[in-house]
Amino acid sequence: MKQIVVISGKGGTGKTVMTGAFASLAQNKVMADCDVDAADLHLLLQPKIVERHEFRSGLKAGINKKICQKCGKCMIACRFQAINQDFIVDPVSCEGCGFCSHICPAGAIKMEENISGEWFISTTRFGPMVHARLGIAEENSGKLVSLVRKQAKAVAEKNNCDWVIIDGAPGIGCPVIASLSGVDQAVVVTEPTLSGLHDALRVIDVTKHFKIPAQVIINKYDLNTDMARQIEEHCLKIGIPLLGKVRFDKTVVEAMVDGKTIIEYKDTPVKEEIQRIWEKLRA
Ligand code: SF4
Ligand code: SF4
Repeated sequence: MKQIVVISGKGGTGKTVMTGAFASLAQNKVMADCDVDAADLHLLLQPKIVERHEFRSGLKAGINKKICQKCGKCMIACRFQAINQDFIVDPVSCEGCGFCSHICPAGAIKMEENISGEWFISTTRFGPMVHARLGIAEENSGKLVSLVRKQAKAVAEKNNCDWVIIDGAPGIGCPVIASLSGVDQAVVVTEPTLSGLHDALRVIDVTKHFKIPAQVIINKYDLNTDMARQIEEHCLKIGIPLLGKVRFDKTVVEAMVDGKTIIEYKDTPVKEEIQRIWEKLRA
């Protein structure tokens, strides 16, 4: 079984379009959406949830109203102003430091495990998919990404799958590192702009640091062929193979609006380019 992650130094480069296309081209696979902060692979794959699980991470204070003596000490002590005048904890503001639970004279405050999101195992028209949703203002997306990866691998092993196709987290922080760890191949999707080049180089550095082989796709290359050439030259210089170039085509957006991958949508040159990229990657 091989794990392939599609990443980009920033959002909006077409990472999910590529992942969706690979999902429809690969045989016998599991999809994993690790972009848990702004998941959108489900818009293309329209998963039907089979299993739903809570994601617990970190602690939040909880006040037992029956025991509370309304002394106000916790409210004054909390430097995050997370406790209001009715002695109710705002879970978004609470940082889980636990100080209030130590100073409460009545022992009314307990630190409780926080439900910070959900993760799912679903079926799609292309096979199983593991995905997640992080709660609003919740942190620890790296931990949730690791959980999605672990579960996707388990589903793949159980079903004897050949591939795990991962929509990685954007950027270069903890979630992208969690998306990358232990994969066989990273595919970096970039666009022909100066910031596209800069962001791609940053994320390639991360792959190099973790010794993950990486290849690059230049998406919408024909919008700026000079810059596309510069990206190619940079990749050559640092020993990163160019997996392929994909032209700009408005049918990509039309397909998304229609809830389809570009492979399913219409026979277009862009579809052929992505098919060629997949064949190269598969080989
Ligand atoms: S410190 Fe304890 S007893 Fe005092 S207001 Fe807060 S929860 Fe209630
Ligand atoms: S755990 Fe810390 S941040 Fe949360 S309410 Fe108590 S003192 Fe404030």
